[in-house]
Amino acid sequence: MPTWVQVVYLLCAIGFILALKGLSGPRTARRGNLVGAAAAVVGCVLPFIYVDHLDHVPLMIGAIAVGTAGGVFGARKVQMTQMPQMVALFNGVGGGAAALVALLELNHMLEVQDALDALGADVDAYGWFVYAATAFTIFVGSVSFAGSLITFAKLQELMTSRPVVFAGLPVAFGLMLLGGVGLSVLTVTDAAIGIGIALCLVGLVFGVLLVLPVGGADVPIVISLLNAFTGLTVAAGGYVLSNTLLLVGGTLVGASGTFLTLLMARAMGRSVGNIMFGALKGGSTLGGGEASDRPVKSAGPEDVAILLGYADRVIIVPGYGLAVAQAQHTLRELVDVLGERGTKVDYAIHPVAGRMPGHMNVLLAEAQVPYEQLVEMDEINGEFKNTDVVLVVGANDVVNPAAKTTPGAPIYGMPILNADEAKQIVFMKRSMRPGFAGIENELLFDPKTTLLFGDAKESLGKLLNSIKSL
Ligand code: NDP
Repeated sequence: MPTWVQVVYLLCAIGFILALKGLSGPRTARRGNLVGAAAAVVGCVLPFIYVDHLDHVPLMIGAIAVGTAGGVFGARKVQMTQMPQMVALFNGVGGGAAALVALLELNHMLEVQDALDALGADVDAYGWFVYAATAFTIFVGSVSFAGSLITFAKLQELMTSRPVVFAGLPVAFGLMLLGGVGLSVLTVTDAAIGIGIALCLVGLVFGVLLVLPVGGADVPIVISLLNAFTGLTVAAGGYVLSNTLLLVGGTLVGASGTFLTLLMARAMGRSVGNIMFGALKGGSTLGGGEASDRPVKSAGPEDVAILLGYADRVIIVPGYGLAVAQAQHTLRELVDVLGERGTKVDYAIHPVAGRMPGHMNVLLAEAQVPYEQLVEMDEINGEFKNTDVVLVVGANDVVNPAAKTTPGAPIYGMPILNADEAKQIVFMKRSMRPGFAGIENELLFDPKTTLLFGDAKESLGKLLNSIKSL
């Protein structure tokens, strides 16, 4: 590989690191995304420029064209609420691609070794570590592919989002894991393409079994975990193919995916082990949930407008329902009008509000809400006690006191926003159905709480008109 190519690869790797840095803050995220995408494009184009005799060029260009068209179409069409499943799909395809490349590379390695053996040369063309890295890529890439497809099906509601557990699941799971390890060892000691294919199939089944017992609300965490798996797979693939950029890019994805998984698990007050295997022990009840028929205090938009219109301090708690209703623009208008009336208003951002990390930040940034109005949970939690009205817009679990008071509740231990400390609480939701954890929220029945039933966008529109006419 010419030196200039190595230098360009190094620049691409730096581009990936800068991209991650940019993605860690809302102000720089868009630029970070573009830098990362540009580095990836350069990395893909480079072999077409410097490799002398490239085989199958039309096929490769065809595959890139299909992938690009699918990616652009998917990214343009996807609704904000469907983002996690799109990430799952893209990530799974990455893992699957890495596994396929490793299978082809295994075939190539065996051909080289056969040719050397036929010449009577008593040498090993590849060391044991290369075979081990190839086996790892095939197995973990297949797990990531199959697991991601199941997460996609769960989030897209193509199958139940509840944990799927059946008798013998732990045994089948253990057998597949043993099979994967055994076939990986065989790939190192007696490599054959049949063993590689069997390893791939075992990986696919293992991936399905790994994700089936995970309940709906936990699926985004598993997506992040599988994303980390894909990163490690690609890194190992980079080692096998002697491609430094794949190695660096894969390691970055593996490391950041692992961090994200741990941070999300911590924000929910759960361990990754509990999320993955809780249902096997019969502990996870996440997903679904019945609507409560206990009496609550509800009001119309005019009454809520009076509450808000004469408050000095208001905190908005946005949640998943805001994204469903696509009410972010109307909400910003409402906050602007309250601001003009002299009310101090902030948005309280819970780290796992919505269905993906940063969901509320992205949603509110789209509506051009100033970043300084978005206040993180730890910073704003002390302010609820001095707040006149908390307006909970399509959120539920992130303000559910059961997280503090009910040991055994699926969200027990999750840090929550202290909305219960405010003088008045207004919930905007459509019904008495629970949030994603599937459990009742006592705060809905608190004497300080008023419910404004209806779709968040419609209710906010009516509320806005009522406040304007105060
Ligand atoms: P929840 O899922 O707890 O609650 C959403 C609320 O929005 C419900 O009360 C629902 O009630 C209401 N709602 C839905 N659609 C509308 C609409 N069109 N108009 C008005 N209201 C609506 O959301 P939270 O954001 O509070 O909590 C997020 C949950 O997701 C947590 O349990 C978290 O652990 C989990 N999670 C989050 C991840 C993340 O990264 N953000 C990752 C994994 C899990 P109704 O149906 O009655 O309208």
